[in-house]
Amino acid sequence: MNELKQKILTDGRLLDGYILKVDNFLNHQLDVGLLERVGAAFAERFVGVKVDKILTIEASGIAVACMAARHFGYPPVVFAKKTQSLNMDPDAYEVDVFSYTKQTTYKVRVSRRYLSAGERVLIIDDFLANGHAARGLIDIVRQAGAEPVGLGIVIEKGFQDGRKVVEECGVRIESLAILESFDGGKVNFA
Ligand code: 5GP
Repeated sequence: MNELKQKILTDGRLLDGYILKVDNFLNHQLDVGLLERVGAAFAERFVGVKVDKILTIEASGIAVACMAARHFGYPPVVFAKKTQSLNMDPDAYEVDVFSYTKQTTYKVRVSRRYLSAGERVLIIDDFLANGHAARGLIDIVRQAGAEPVGLGIVIEKGFQDGRKVVEECGVRIESLAILESFDGGKVNFA
């Protein structure tokens, strides 16, 4: 997606040489117009795929998943929670996920009320790095007896193992921008 790549080039910043900061359009401030077109791009990539539900993970996946839902006939969007709180349904699917940016393991939960056997679930997230978050979400969908029909990623770090991990899970992956390297302190696309 050219517009997205241009935005990454003009507005993205490299942190410590391995984290791409895109806080001003994806991870903190949101560029709603761009995200609307990101949602449409996912619908083009997954054209013909029947989607009953979209699953993402808080927080940055939520806006993207909602924008995608607009282009898939408004299926419900469910976001996996990263923290246990009093209002979280204790009857939940649960998985441990290693956080690339925080370098710790945390629990990801989805209430059993919101994923059901037989549902066709499209998973959406902002970044794919080593695939831990994606694998966790795929695991949760399968715990529910539902079917992960695809993974839509806004920005894939193609030089990490995420794609391999997702493919080993047997799930189709579509990324709108694939980064090849951060060589020379700048972003290079595949
Ligand atoms: P993974 O689980 O694939 O290793 O990492 C994916 C998660 O880590 C994403 O949901 C995102 O929150 C975060 N992440 C990984 N790499 C980057 C990065 O370069 N920039 C940003 N902003 N987030 C990243």
